[in-house]
Parts: sequence; C-alpha cells; structure tokens
Amino acid sequence: MKRKSMYSVWVVALLGLSGAAGAAGLIPQPNADAVPYATQADPETLVLDARMAARGIAISTLHIPVRPGPFTFVYPKWIPGYHSPAGVLADISQLTVSAGGQALTWRRDKVDMYAFHVTVPAGVRSIRVQFTMLLNGGTSKRATPDLATICWTRAFFYQNDINYHDYYLRASIILPKGWGYGTALTTVSRVGQRVNFAEEPLTYVGDSPLFMGRYYRKVQLWHQGSAHMWLDMFADAPQELDVPAKLLAAYQRLPDEAFALYGSRHWYNYHALLAMSNQISYDGIEHHQSSDDRAAADFMTDPDQQLIGGDLVPHEFSHSWNGKYRRPWDLITDNYQIPQRTDLLWVYEGMNQYLGDLLSFRSGIRQPSEYPQYLAMIYNEMATEPGRDTEPLIDLTTGAPYFYMTANGQYPSLRRSAADFYTEGELLWLDVDTIIRARTHGKKSLDDFWHLYSQPAMTGPITKPYTRSDIEHLLNEVCPYDWHAFFQKHVYEVSRLPPTGELERSGWRLVYTAQPNPFITAAQETDHIDYQWLTYGFNVGRSGALTDVREGSPAWNAGMSPGMKLLAVDGQKFSPGVLQYYLRKAAQDSVPTRFTVAQDGGVRTIAVGYFGGPRYPHLVRMAGTQNMLAKIMAPHAGH
Ligand SMILES: [Zn+2]
Repeated sequence: MKRKSMYSVWVVALLGLSGAAGAAGLIPQPNADAVPYATQADPETLVLDARMAARGIAISTLHIPVRPGPFTFVYPKWIPGYHSPAGVLADISQLTVSAGGQALTWRRDKVDMYAFHVTVPAGVRSIRVQFTMLLNGGTSKRATPDLATICWTRAFFYQNDINYHDYYLRASIILPKGWGYGTALTTVSRVGQRVNFAEEPLTYVGDSPLFMGRYYRKVQLWHQGSAHMWLDMFADAPQELDVPAKLLAAYQRLPDEAFALYGSRHWYNYHALLAMSNQISYDGIEHHQSSDDRAAADFMTDPDQQLIGGDLVPHEFSHSWNGKYRRPWDLITDNYQIPQRTDLLWVYEGMNQYLGDLLSFRSGIRQPSEYPQYLAMIYNEMATEPGRDTEPLIDLTTGAPYFYMTANGQYPSLRRSAADFYTEGELLWLDVDTIIRARTHGKKSLDDFWHLYSQPAMTGPITKPYTRSDIEHLLNEVCPYDWHAFFQKHVYEVSRLPPTGELERSGWRLVYTAQPNPFITAAQETDHIDYQWLTYGFNVGRSGALTDVREGSPAWNAGMSPGMKLLAVDGQKFSPGVLQYYLRKAAQDSVPTRFTVAQDGGVRTIAVGYFGGPRYPHLVRMAGTQNMLAKIMAPHAGH
C-alpha cells in the first residue's frame, strides 16, 4: 500500500516536469489525461488461462470498466525496458468483445493499429474482451512444453489515453497442472491451479512478468526483515537446475555488492526470474522489482556461459536502481502508447553495462583477475568497427527504437548496432571511473557518484528523472572536471576511437598476440562463431556462413562479403579446425589462403592474402604503475 501512495507522489512531480518542459517546447503534452474508469475499488480484471501454454497459446479474458457511448481500448505499444514499440500486435488472435452476454462489434483504428473502437450500449459499465495470445507467434518464442514466460503487457488491453499510474488492474492466472510460478506481483489467494494477485496500478502489473514451469528452483539470495531477493529458476530439464554450490554462493553475494555500490535500495521484494532453455529466445528485460532473464539451457551449469553471460542477472538487477529508479526524463511516459525518447540510453544502458559487469566480477560470478582480458576484448571490438568513422554514439541511442527492432541484418560493423552503446558505454564509464580515481588520488570513484545518484537510501519502487546536465552536475560534485566536454567528445561527436584513456590510466597496455583470449574462446563456444575479425577479417558461423566482413581487411579486399558461405579451405571441407591450420600455415609460407565460397547459387574460389597468423587482443601490466582494474573489480561488500 505504501508503494501506491509513493507512485502518486512521483506522478505529480513528473507531471510538473512534463508541463514545464512542454511549455518550453521540448516535449509534446502526453495523451494521458482521460478519466480512468478502472479504479482501485473497481479495477479492470484479467484472467489468463495458461493451461495450454505448452501448445503456445493462452486465453486472456478481460473485464474493462467503461461508460456508454464510443469507447476506445488499446494494446500496449511502447514497452518500458524494450526501448521501442515492441508490443506485438501479431500475437493477438480470436478477439471478441461483449457486454452483458451480447456481442459488440469492434473496429480497429485506421491509423493507429493498436487502438480498437466499440460503441458501449446504454447502462453498460463494463465490457468483456477476450482473445487468444500467441506465445510463439512471431518474433520470439516464449513457451515450451515445460516452461513459459508471461509478459502481462501482451495479455491486456486498457482504456485509451489514461495515465497508467492511476489506472488499476487485477490479474489472475490459471497455471498448467503441476507447474510452479514466480513473479513480483503479490499473491492474494490460490484455488487449485488459479492464482489471484492484488490489484495494482497498470504500470506495476505491466512491470511484473510471470515465469512458470514444470521444473523450477527458487533460491533466496538475500533477506532482511520482510524484504527479500529471490532467484527463481525455470528449466526445460531438471538437471539444468543443479547449479554448482560455488556459483550459487557468488550469486548470493550479488545483493550485498549492489548495496555496497549504491548505498541504497528502491524495492521491497525482488525476483530475478531466470528461464533456461535452448528453445526460447535469449533476452534480459529489467523491471523494478524483478527481471525477465532468458538464457541457454546450460546457463548455470556450463562455466563458459557464466564467463560470457555472467552479467545477465547482475545487469538487470542493477537496472532496478539505474533505469527504473533513476530514469532519463524524456524516457518516462504516462502510458504505453506514448513514444519513448531514447537519446539518454548512453547513461541508462551504457553505464549499466559497466555496472552489470562490475557487479558480476565483484560478487565472484566471474573472477576479478579475468577482467583485463574481458576489457581487451570489448575495447578491440569497438576500436575495429568502421561504422564509427561517420556515426556518433548519440545517433545509436536516439535511433535505438529502430536499431533494436529492425537493424539486425548484414554489416552490423558498417551500420553499427544497438549493442554498441552497451559495449562502448562500458568503456566510457570505465574511463569516467578512472579519471575520478586518478584526479582524486584514489579517494573517490564512480561508487561515490552512484551513492549520490541513487539516494535517498530507502524508497519503494518509484521513479526519479534525470537530464544530461543532472548527470554532469553530480559527477562534478564527486570530482570537478569538464564532464560536459568529455561526453560531448565521446558521445555526441564522431569519435574515431572509443574512450581509450582508461587503459593506461588503470595501469594496462593493449597488445596483440597469438595467445587466445579466454573470453573470445568462450564466446566462440557459446555463440558457435569463429572470430577471425583481426586476421582474415571475417566472422564465420560453424556452418561456414560469413556473418560480417571487416571493411579494409584482407577478406574485404579479396571480395568477400556477408551472405557468402565458406565451403572449403584449400580444398578441405570447412571447419574451424581446418581454418586454424591454414591460418598458421599462411604465416609460415606466405601463400594466400584459398577459400571455396558459395553465394546465391554460385560457387567460386577467393584467395585471401593474410600472413600474420592468429591474433588476439590482451592487456598487459605496465611496470611501475598501480593496478587500478584490480581495485575496481575487487569485492566491496564485507561478506
Ligand atoms: Zn540493460
């Protein structure tokens, strides 16, 4: 109940902000001023019959409070955390609307595909809307015979133009027989397979996904009084839940490391929901009191998975502070139909990429001593991307809704991708961290900034907006510096190299050797891709498909391009092992490597002249300097 009143406090504060900014012509007035018919006393209700989840469907039955006359209900379009119009209209099927047992005719809006119109007869106060939600309909698979991930934003319609902080929804779910569930929603009652949750503001229900499955394991990571944090794991097979005790202990240190880093908490009960399956699509979506984490079946049992993806749960957990509690002022909206402005994602996601990694190393999910090799990998990734010569980071964040949704095809290095403001964001914020540490002679760090950024120490799940200038002011409070010029240079202008000062400042130098980088090796194993970006100049899948070719590289100069498939290397059927052999051989005899490639029905031979042998990025210590990376990544909480 406390949470609800705090929501309204912030709604007032935010409306004040929007109003002022709107008057200045910065953002349009939101379409969120309709009187909400669904109140706490008379909420919209949603019953999701998920008993057929294994078949990829769930039936949603809604009762939406209405008034007689023309009425418009809408399907969520801009989903927080996805930073894009990710609402999947194509997952709606078999839609019917009725009132008092009488069918009502519905019509989709001719312009806004997410809006549906009906005429409500006299005397009617609520309409029944029912549809079949396709769980595996289009872009991503969400259900298998043994588990399913439910986003409520896919399961409801709501009254048009309302403010979702003031509009209430009460959800229930009917589970498949024998399945367990996890969610941050409060369970009020359970009768057989039906679970009823408390009525909450629509924004909170939409922010609280539910995972369910036949095989599950719930581990309490932390508790204090009535507050707790859980790791709710679901898997397609029971053996995937046999998490090594040492790894589980590292996850149990995660909450304390986050408290040490932020000095605050803005949630009551947190559920890290983790689905492990090779059938569903990988994803990680943050929520205020939970996270929606989807990973490979062996995520918790294969060490390579943790080496590469060990920041998944810490990253989403950190978002409870950075992204949910503190959020860019122009990314905050009052309902799901209002477009989100994503320009400040270089803070929201870029800084969080650093935070997620930091927390994974500090808690011991990954070993702090391994961080320098990780840093070498991501620095090299950003420094060798030709698209950066014309496109500043700010364009990737501003265009994020497009980059997330559709920019996934060929030449990600020429076009750049949404992943770049995560990876480069880590370099950017590590640079900031090392500047603060160097200028204050180790007395201050970004941890001081995060304490200021996330104060006061305790609130419920509320949201506090920031601007670019707020961030620069807070940094100045920790360490006076021209932060505006710093971000201008690295984020807002074209920058031929990613932030680079952090390497030497932290006592390390970038070198390239034939010795494999353990993170690249693990990534090759988990992604099934062979990275020859620094040698021939391409990345190639296990089947031989070229996923990208680096502009200006030997492969590029020889005419290779994505869309080609390597059939053979010097007459031998392609495999990563064969490729390795010829890579080393060419370094000795300086004979160009002959690739047989297939492309669009044609087959030809391409000779690529690269003679430098295997090449991997590493960081090595600079003698006589302080090892700042070790300090940054060391555990900070007194466990
Ligand atoms: Zn994120």
